[in-house]
Amino acid sequence: MNYVSPWMDADLEGFRDAVKRFVDAEIVPHNERWRKQQHVDRDTWNKAGEMGILLADIPEEYGGSGGTFAHQAIVFEELSFSGDTAFGIHVHAIVAHYLLNQGTEEQKRTYLPKLASGEMVAAIAMTEPGAGSDLKGIRTTAKLEGDHYVLHGSKTFISNGYLADLILVVAKTDPEAGSKGISLMLLETKNCGDGFRVGRILEKVGQKGQDTCELFFDGARVPRENVLGGVEGKGFVQLMTELPYERVIVGIAGVAAIEKALALTIEHTKERKAFGQALIELQNTRFVLAEIKTEATVARTFIDRCIVDMLEGRMDTELASMAKYWITDLQCKVVDQCVQLFGGYGYMLEYPIAQLYVDARVQRIYGGANEIMKEIISRSL
Ligand SMILES: Cc1cc2nc3c(=O)[nH]c(=O)nc-3n(C[C@H](O)[C@H](O)[C@H](O)COP(=O)(O)OP(=O)(O)OC[C@H]3O[C@@H](n4cnc5c(N)ncnc54)[C@H](O)[C@@H]3O)c2cc1C
Repeated sequence: MNYVSPWMDADLEGFRDAVKRFVDAEIVPHNERWRKQQHVDRDTWNKAGEMGILLADIPEEYGGSGGTFAHQAIVFEELSFSGDTAFGIHVHAIVAHYLLNQGTEEQKRTYLPKLASGEMVAAIAMTEPGAGSDLKGIRTTAKLEGDHYVLHGSKTFISNGYLADLILVVAKTDPEAGSKGISLMLLETKNCGDGFRVGRILEKVGQKGQDTCELFFDGARVPRENVLGGVEGKGFVQLMTELPYERVIVGIAGVAAIEKALALTIEHTKERKAFGQALIELQNTRFVLAEIKTEATVARTFIDRCIVDMLEGRMDTELASMAKYWITDLQCKVVDQCVQLFGGYGYMLEYPIAQLYVDARVQRIYGGANEIMKEIISRSL
């Protein structure tokens, strides 16, 4: 089959080769060690910054590489094809997009170049122990005292939490005003006083190299001018505007993981023998793989349409939610079927298919649980 994504061209192929070389040299060899230490090496961020892949689709005037969403999509795809889930470039890019689309000119000029170079690592802190899907239920507060906001509360499950230098914190600036009282605060972890603490790096089922943390605010200080967009109370609308970007990214990683699982399983079933023949010669194996190949192709054409919509600026929240829910459900189903075809080897973590299996599960939960995606889609019925 000779399918080429409609958004790819020769220049992007060259970019893809360069990203792949970077991932092979700077990410893949460290994956096992990162899983043990529960975070990537800090200098990997600086190396990726030097390569120009951290903010591939942010304009050059803000320090980005001046590419399009296609460039950023390639970075996410190559990381996913490599099997990496440790390097938290996804949330980093998400925060950059909040800044680009919702930040003041000064906020963009202050932070985007540092995020592009890797001088700063970014995280976004929405989820709390008592509020995940129901974001309006957050309890973290930010109270203006003179020229600073003072933050109280806690967050959990925060990707990049251990290494983050800049955290976009969702807080209530007016607890009586419902969703209109929510604001996004740009908190510098090394410059917010001693009222900020990073809790433990959480022990997860998969994605073990990713530093997912608890965060505690007990009088952390954020300068008044660091409310995203410069005006209080816009946080909920800013979240709703930017979440589709995050959901498409989850879908992109999901399709790449499906394609990777299929390739690994074809290779294994061609080599492995049972009952005097290669596993792939058994009808069940061929039929399962034929189904997966079909589903992978449907998912690929769907995500390609999403990428084109992103490039043309017409992505909407329903389509992004469909991509997030449908692709990640498919990812978990497909990877499970592939594990089955690997037999016992599929359950051994030294086999990449087993890593794909444990890393896949959370895709249906974060970025908005898939049930929330269906809520959003159903509003358009
Ligand atoms: C590895 C990992 C990384 C994460 N990274 C980040 C991060 O960087 N920043 C951040 O802010 N958060 C992050 N999260 C949090 C993630 O976004 C939340 O876990 C997710 O939104 C679900 O919230 P919850 O865990 O509180 O589940 P709950 O809100 O308690 O929901 C539990 C389940 O109930 C069901 N449910 C909930 N509401 C509805 C509804 N309205 N209709 C039907 N069913 C419903 C769903 O099945 C849902 O999965 C991360 C989570 C994980 C596990």
